Amino acid sequence: MKEKLQAIADQARAEISAAKTQDALKQVQIRYLGKKGAMTSVLRGMGQLPPEERPLVGSLANKIRDELTALFAERQNELRQEERLAQMAKERLDVTLPGRPLELGYLHPLTQVMDEIAEIFLGMGFTVAEGPEVETDYYNFEALNLPKDHPAREMQDSFYFTPDMLLRTHTSPVQVHTMEKMAPQVPVRIIAPGKVYRRDDDATHSPMFHQVEGLVIDHHISLADLKGTLLLFAQQMFGPHQQVRLRPSFFPFTEPSAEVDITCMVCNGKGCRTCKDTGWIEILGSGMVHPRVLEMSGYDPEEYTGFAFGMGVERIAMLKYGVDDLRLFFLNDLRLARQFR
Ligand SMILES: [Zn+2]
Repeated sequence: MKEKLQAIADQARAEISAAKTQDALKQVQIRYLGKKGAMTSVLRGMGQLPPEERPLVGSLANKIRDELTALFAERQNELRQEERLAQMAKERLDVTLPGRPLELGYLHPLTQVMDEIAEIFLGMGFTVAEGPEVETDYYNFEALNLPKDHPAREMQDSFYFTPDMLLRTHTSPVQVHTMEKMAPQVPVRIIAPGKVYRRDDDATHSPMFHQVEGLVIDHHISLADLKGTLLLFAQQMFGPHQQVRLRPSFFPFTEPSAEVDITCMVCNGKGCRTCKDTGWIEILGSGMVHPRVLEMSGYDPEEYTGFAFGMGVERIAMLKYGVDDLRLFFLNDLRLARQFR
């Protein structure tokens, strides 16, 4: 039995020093020292030895086990070191390699247009107000003079969380929040840029799009102030030759209401396919704030008047840059985005 153990030890020593990788070494270790390994199976025969020999064999087995365990640890350190050196040789830094160019990020065209719009109004003394994208029915509709069952709600089919909670269909609720916070202080002069949501999806509508709304409340605010403000905006956004035209329209939250057209930038007002030969292009909706809206938000309509307007950022961007499909803005196609660097 002693000879058997010695033979196993010799063989194990040879295999340990022959192992080329840590994995191979692990296999050798299992084969000799594992629970079902060579040592264990020899020692299983201990019971057949004369009792006086058992301690001798036992202590020899322990000696061999200790020795082999130490050998395994030693060889494992060697292999680990070798593998590390091999790895380092492979990954050696070549300082003569040209670096990988870092691509500089830039703003999405819609963000750029939204910033540009904001910049123009900030120059006129407006401040930027923001509000939540998830709104209650009250702020999105009711406080804007759109009570339940109002037919105009149909034009703004939304995404509902509960019968009373929805993704805002316009940035107008920000106007209500602002008025509630400020009333009865004047002047109110804010723009509210942000994302809005409607159940629409085609070449000129996306279920998520961006609006910038404006609101002014003060003493003696008239339609002339509205027109002057929008004329200045159109000229700064699209060029100094711009004119604006107000056409009567209907919105529940303004009275009177007007669609605002600007000079067609394709034909400069001469008439073309884009403007359907009218020379005008519609860019936004506007009007004088409805007295009921003022009143609900804490302003006395006998004392104060105001105007409001709202424009789609995608529409402005499409007109400004001649983009003919709104969905292009949301495809994450860098070929489009790179043109706006
Ligand atoms: Zn035209």
